[in-house]
Amino acid sequence: MGQKCVFLDRDGVLNVDRVDYVYRLQEFIIPPGVPEALQALKQAGYLLIVITNQSGIAKGIYERKDVYMIHEAIQQGTGVVLDDLYFCPYHEKFDSHSLTRKPGSLLIEKAAAKYEVDMSASFMVGDHERDIIAGTRAGLRTIRIAPAGTETHATHLVPDLLAASTLILSE
Ligand SMILES: [Mg+2]
Repeated sequence: MGQKCVFLDRDGVLNVDRVDYVYRLQEFIIPPGVPEALQALKQAGYLLIVITNQSGIAKGIYERKDVYMIHEAIQQGTGVVLDDLYFCPYHEKFDSHSLTRKPGSLLIEKAAAKYEVDMSASFMVGDHERDIIAGTRAGLRTIRIAPAGTETHATHLVPDLLAASTLILSE
C-alpha cells in the first residue's frame, strides 16, 4: 500500500525559471494556476514533495539558506501545501558526481522510503527531460510540462501545472 504522492520539480513548475538561477525573492514569481493546482492535489490526498537540482550551490552562486528562503516563499504563496523539499546541491563539474542529482533518482527514492510512497499510484512532474528520466527510473508515471510537440519520454505532455493536476485528478 503506501501513500500516493506527486513529486514536483521546482523551477519551471512551481515558479518561473531563469537562466541565471532563482535564489532572490525579487526574482521569484509563482505563475497563475499553481496554487490552485497544488491545493486540488492536496485535497485529493496526494503528498506533495519537491525534488530539485540546485547546483548553484556547488557553483558558489548561492547558499543552502537561499534554497530554504525560496521554499518558504513557495509555501507562503501556495497556502503551505508542500509536504517536503529535497534538493541536490552538487554538480559533477564543480564538486562531486551524485546520484541525487536528476536525472539520478536517489532523492525521489529517499523521499519515497521516508514517506512510504506507493510508486504505482504516484507521479513525477517536471519541465526538463532529466526530471522525466529520474521519475521513470524511480518507477513513477511522468508528466512533462512543455509546449505541445516537445519530444519526450514522459507518460504525458501538458502545458502547465494546472493541466498536470487536472490530468492526475482524472485518473
Ligand atoms: Mg525545472
